[in-house]
Amino acid sequence: MTTRTMTILKNRFFDRILTVAIVLTILANLLVSLLFVSVVAFPELIQIRAPTRKSAYKIEYCFPVAGNCSYSNDWHAPRYIPYYHLHEGTDIFAPRGTPIYACVEGKVEKIGTEPISGNFIGIRGRDKRYYYYAHLETWVIGIKEGNKVRLGKIIGYVGNTGNARGTPPHLHFGIKESNYWINPYPILKKMKTYDEL
Ligand SMILES: [Zn+2]
Repeated sequence: MTTRTMTILKNRFFDRILTVAIVLTILANLLVSLLFVSVVAFPELIQIRAPTRKSAYKIEYCFPVAGNCSYSNDWHAPRYIPYYHLHEGTDIFAPRGTPIYACVEGKVEKIGTEPISGNFIGIRGRDKRYYYYAHLETWVIGIKEGNKVRLGKIIGYVGNTGNARGTPPHLHFGIKESNYWINPYPILKKMKTYDEL
């Protein structure tokens, strides 16, 4: 082999090495770009179990009546007006016009006036329970069915409408769970007041 041939072969060898190095660099760059685009454009691909916002915060409650009030465990107390029945809620006594708060975040399911309940509002809580507020003096201005309500929003004011006419103003507070009324008293006892939130 002549020196010239050896030089040519040596040059070819270095040319190959250079070509391979260039190709590898291009591939590496492509790979990095692809990863970057994936992370930016499809973040869910790399988050196998992204926590949802809903499960990230727990449900909080707030006592439904503002300020000083009184109530006792009057669940299933006998009532005679308009006919004999057992009381299915808790009566919370407070001065007429006292603000009533949404005790949990939810959605207004029903608003209306009936002979027994008077002015009432029913809210479906985020906890799936149905919260029923009755004998309201009136509702807060503008509230209507379908409205979302945050925890502690004023929804109405204490009164004695419906069959409570003639009794001291109070909020009849009822809770329905899986379509059955349950005793709100122990639940009320555990609720923070609006000021403690
Ligand atoms: Zn009642």
